Amino acid sequence: MPVAPEHLVVRRPFDDTVYGVLPATPPDAVAPAVARARVAQRAWAKVPVTRRAAVFRELARLILAHRDRILDTIQEETGKARISALEEFLDAARAVRVFASQAPGLLRPSRRAGAIPLLTCTREYHRPVGVVGIINPWNYPFNLPASDAAQALLAGNAVVLKPDSQTPFTARLLAELLALAGLPENLFQVLPGSGSVLGPALVAEVDYVMFTGSTATGRRLAAACAERLIGFSGELGGKNPLLVLADANLRAAAAGTVRAAFANTGQVCVGIERAYVVGEVYDRFVEELLAQVASLRLGAGLDWNVDVGSLASAGQLAAVSRHVEDAVAKGAFVLAGGRPRPDLGPFFYEPTVLSGVTEEMALCREETFGPVLSLYRVASEDEAVERANDSRYGLNASVWSAGRGEVVAARLRVGTVNVNEGYAAAWGSHAASMGGMGESGMGRRHGSHGLLKYTEPQTVAVQRLHPIAPPRGMGNKGYADVMTRAISLLNRWG
Ligand code: NAP
Repeated sequence: MPVAPEHLVVRRPFDDTVYGVLPATPPDAVAPAVARARVAQRAWAKVPVTRRAAVFRELARLILAHRDRILDTIQEETGKARISALEEFLDAARAVRVFASQAPGLLRPSRRAGAIPLLTCTREYHRPVGVVGIINPWNYPFNLPASDAAQALLAGNAVVLKPDSQTPFTARLLAELLALAGLPENLFQVLPGSGSVLGPALVAEVDYVMFTGSTATGRRLAAACAERLIGFSGELGGKNPLLVLADANLRAAAAGTVRAAFANTGQVCVGIERAYVVGEVYDRFVEELLAQVASLRLGAGLDWNVDVGSLASAGQLAAVSRHVEDAVAKGAFVLAGGRPRPDLGPFFYEPTVLSGVTEEMALCREETFGPVLSLYRVASEDEAVERANDSRYGLNASVWSAGRGEVVAARLRVGTVNVNEGYAAAWGSHAASMGGMGESGMGRRHGSHGLLKYTEPQTVAVQRLHPIAPPRGMGNKGYADVMTRAISLLNRWG
């Protein structure tokens, strides 16, 4: 049984100094928090969805108005570059606004064909599930909880968020903005603390779990939710491929690959770790790519003059170093980077490009979750597709091609495909679903799937004039004949 520490000490990855200390939530505080959420949720569910949406329109405005404070907090807790913090800030501001616009339409009750035409009036409603538990990782501590919570709250639920132990202050800032936007008390509570300590207590109390994080933790949580027969949605790991086809614009493809592999210091669930480049353009693509990698500016600090920031922790640095060292020891070639940069900060690692990666190297198939890209020369589009699909994961893929992108997309077993972009086009299409196939997860965030998963469909059928039973005086045999004829007639129309 893990022991709950009394405090969380949050350290700045830029220099490993203490950023802040706050009390850790004891596990026995989880049930009372969920109980408070339950009371608040009952009132919130009665608020018309258009009024709920107004809170999120205001949240979008407040996010934009508090840009610098949000960026500073994200950077202090994660060590990412300001341009990467900006990406999640913009994402949050747009996502909550899109969800506010979508929610009234998606939650509107729908008329359905009834059991007996004219006599049965049937409507399908979307009832909130109740209290949603959200568990988030450290790599996107602002936009993930903002957008998940927005969809859950718009659907009429309350939310209890367990942020990552490394990023509780960003989660608290989100709670502050939600309160300013007019969200009633107790509908959004943040419980900072260790996942292994609070996770079981949370899963035992809530009505749905939305999780983002590693496949290992997601699997454990999904099993615990199955035991309670509550819903679970998880966006998990990935080993996302990028395909460069013969008709690609190589300069744009190289720039897109650099963004997709090294934004957020490579700690992006939908980021690119493997690139399959067809032989006829391989050399030109690699030349262009390496020139662009060489121009990346690494560094610490809250200013705008940096392209790639720090890794988030000593654990991340160890994992990235282990993958690269293992690959190099087994014969991979380092085309760029390939080493830590302690001169810049304790957890810095250079944007790294490798070739000659083979099956016996850990990074060939395992998620690295850092700034490391492997390049593979392939003979054809078919081989690129086959190798892209040869993974237990299936989160995101990127295809660079002037004319073949959508054709290739149909052959890829992944939840999102970005054509002529790395990951931002599909992720930023907030009205469409986002999530993974295979071991990259189950369920979806964003779009209609993202919102409606936080609801229970309820069918209400009102029977008028006559019950669904034999009319008075008609025997069972007569009823059987009449109904058989009636159903056969109905079946002719569909
Ligand atoms: P992780 O260990 O699974 O942690 C993620 C969250 O789960 C943290 O809040 C953590 O709490 C909590 N947690 C840990 N053990 C738990 C348990 N037994 N019960 C309940 N909660 C528990 O993941 P990570 O390694 O920090 O995050 C990186 C991973 O997230 C990568 O694999 C990445 O691919 C994935 N990710 C996926 C997406 C996506 O959208 N698909 C997005 C971002 C990240 P603590 O803070 O206390 O550890």
